[in-house]
Amino acid sequence: MTLVDPFGRKVTGLRIAITSRCNMRCIYCHHEGETSPGEEMSKETVVQVVKAGADLGIKSVKFTGGEPLMRSDLEDILNELPGHLSLSLTTNGTLLAGRASSLAEAGLDRLNVSLDTLNPRIYSEITGGTKKDLDRVMEGIRSARDAGLTPIKLNMVVLRENQDEVDELIEFAKEEGAILQLIELLDLEGIGLGGDLLNIEKDLERRSDRIVTRHMHRRRKYFLDGAEVEVVRPIDNTEFCANCTRLRVTSDGKLKPCLLRNDNLVEIGSADFEETKLLLREATARRKPYFLKSSLLKNDG
Ligand code: SAM
Repeated sequence: MTLVDPFGRKVTGLRIAITSRCNMRCIYCHHEGETSPGEEMSKETVVQVVKAGADLGIKSVKFTGGEPLMRSDLEDILNELPGHLSLSLTTNGTLLAGRASSLAEAGLDRLNVSLDTLNPRIYSEITGGTKKDLDRVMEGIRSARDAGLTPIKLNMVVLRENQDEVDELIEFAKEEGAILQLIELLDLEGIGLGGDLLNIEKDLERRSDRIVTRHMHRRRKYFLDGAEVEVVRPIDNTEFCANCTRLRVTSDGKLKPCLLRNDNLVEIGSADFEETKLLLREATARRKPYFLKSSLLKNDG
């Protein structure tokens, strides 16, 4: 059984915010599209929605937040999930060093670590964290690699403030055996801090030995001098939306068809397993590409 939306897009992944709490204060944070989150989902609700999704063809789950490592029961959640799922996490990395091996033992396959800069001053300006926090992130990356949570992806949101550091981050990722993800800033509040990702991507194109396009969001991967760089450019990108395979779950237990919309949420509430499956179908039926290709408009109703 599979989940397919009215635009013919298969849903194969869940992106679940397990908390809205965070220990960092990133200046650009989109809070995964949550505006005023209510009570955090229980462990049981998280496990049930993943299992219900798995019954409907979900193959991968990414845990996010807030900062997902603020939840001390994440390992308990992972331990209860079906073994065939691909399980990943996106984290700011500050709490990772002490948890990497327990997360791996509980079934986590890989993770993304947010790392916008290697410069402590810029790190502090962007995240509010200290040099000590940045050192902890570095330690976290090494612990994750030692625990086999690979490939590690480093998430760099490209800002005016850090765009000159892209080459340094590419080199760092290569040394760490990680993949660098360059992410376009989603500037919801019009803070105007976005960097020039278009030109950076043009430069990558020129320098790459090989370019591969992933199915998911039609993201492009650039291979250069032994480094791997993926570019995530969602804004005004109809290809991104047309190839989106994800359904989101908010920290307070709502199915969320799109990061950029809050008018089509489906509340899980006290639904049991079978009801949760119906709700997943309902949320899938409410999916609509935010940036819509004109060739798909006939389906827009
Ligand atoms: N705290 C965790 C972390 O740092 O990965 C998980 C939550 S954070 C919202 C998830 C990812 O979203 C991070 O990699 C972050 O850089 C990215 N992100 C947050 N706000 C963004 C924005 N306005 N535009 C693009 N990416 C953003």
